[in-house]
Formats: sequence, structure tokens, C-alpha cells
Amino acid sequence: MSASNQLYQEVILDHNRKPRNWGAIEGANHRAEGHNPLCGDHIVLTLSVGEGRTVDAVGFEGDGCAICKASASMMTTAVKGRSVGDAEAMVQQFRDMATGKLDPEHDANLLGRLKVFSGVKDLPSRVKCAILPWHTLHAALNNDALASTEGDAS
Ligand code: ZN
Repeated sequence: MSASNQLYQEVILDHNRKPRNWGAIEGANHRAEGHNPLCGDHIVLTLSVGEGRTVDAVGFEGDGCAICKASASMMTTAVKGRSVGDAEAMVQQFRDMATGKLDPEHDANLLGRLKVFSGVKDLPSRVKCAILPWHTLHAALNNDALASTEGDAS
């Protein structure tokens, strides 16, 4: 096993066992649900975006596989305290990395520790699991009111 694979495994296990920012936050002004039917992952993300357009608080809950939960957990720690603009840039960068369009070692990015997910591009069945929390973040940031990405009510 390569060193990067080993780090990946450790990070996934750690965040799966002890997810950060678990639970819905109080006073959230953005919310979205994400669902990945291929795997059965389902997460609910709540955010509080402050006056300065920064992500002041973020929490998630739901049911997902280890990769989805670890990705969601790491996402919440990565975007907390960031501007909405940075968070949106990270959504794009994470998606590009997971699909092999961005090389986190050579292309400019804000991903930091999230680089451990770069190996997911070689696991096509897992790409959606890793991206789901980011897709949900994007949906939450773009909803002015409480809403669902699935949109079945509209
Ligand atoms: Zn999954």
C-alpha cells in the first residue's frame, strides 16, 4: 500500500468514527439535503452564513458510507470560517480533483488536507459518495431559504 493510500485509509476511518460538526446547527439560515441513490448515502447539511458572507457554522447529519461521512466531516472543518466565495471555489476544486480534472499537487487550490481524497478518482463507484457532501454544500449556499436538492416538492 502506498503512503498516500495509507493516509487516505486512516483519515477515512478517523472521520467515520468521529465525524466532526455532527448534527444540525441552531439558527441555520441555509439547509440542503443530498442523496446518492447509487450507494444510499443521504446527508442533511445546515449552515449559518453571517453578515460578512462567511460560513460561521456548519453541521451535517444523515446516513452514509464511510467515504461519504468522512468527506462530509472533512468538508465541514474545511469550510468553517471561510468566505462563501472560497467555499464555492472548494466545491469546484474538490469535484475536479475527484474526477481527475485537477491535480491537487500541481494546480492551484484551497483543498489542503482534502487532498487525501484525490485517490477516489480511481474508484468510479465511490466518486459520487465523496462528492455528495460538496454538491449538498453548493445547494445549501445557493438556497436563500430552506430547500432540498432533490426538489420533489417544487
Ligand atoms: Zn457512499
